[in-house]
Amino acid sequence: MEHCIFCKIAAGQIPAHVVFEDEDLLAFKDINPAAPVHLLVIPKRHLDTLSDVGAEHTALLGKMLALAPRLAAEHGVAVTTNADGKRSGGYKTLINTGPNGGQEVYHLHMHVYGGERPWRGLG
Ligand code: 5GP
Ligand code: ZN
Repeated sequence: MEHCIFCKIAAGQIPAHVVFEDEDLLAFKDINPAAPVHLLVIPKRHLDTLSDVGAEHTALLGKMLALAPRLAAEHGVAVTTNADGKRSGGYKTLINTGPNGGQEVYHLHMHVYGGERPWRGLG
């Protein structure tokens, strides 16, 4: 997609702080972070929205979701459980879809938010 900013990031045509890359996915820091840790996970191949995902993309979607705990661990926001069973840490995963979903960039992406709350505008 010629004018897609995330395709350009995936192609290395515009800079981003990349934190993960494999043959299918790229993860990078959000340029305007809403939380202390705010990462974006994208498929390298362009899809506009979650609504454009078909049966052929279920493995790709699974990979995107499964990357979140790995990134969370690498960025210090994993869920931990102490000796009393009390959990701390943790993160939020979010996919905005379409105008009413708050999507601004029309290349499918999953947000990963973590760190000390409160976060901007995320409930
Ligand atoms: P959306 O509202 O579409 O789910 O979120 C798009 C996200 O992409 C926003 O959080 C925004 O800050 C981020 N973003 C937009 N343009 C760029 C960019 O050029 N580089 C990076 N790293 N993030 C971007
Ligand atoms: Zn794209």
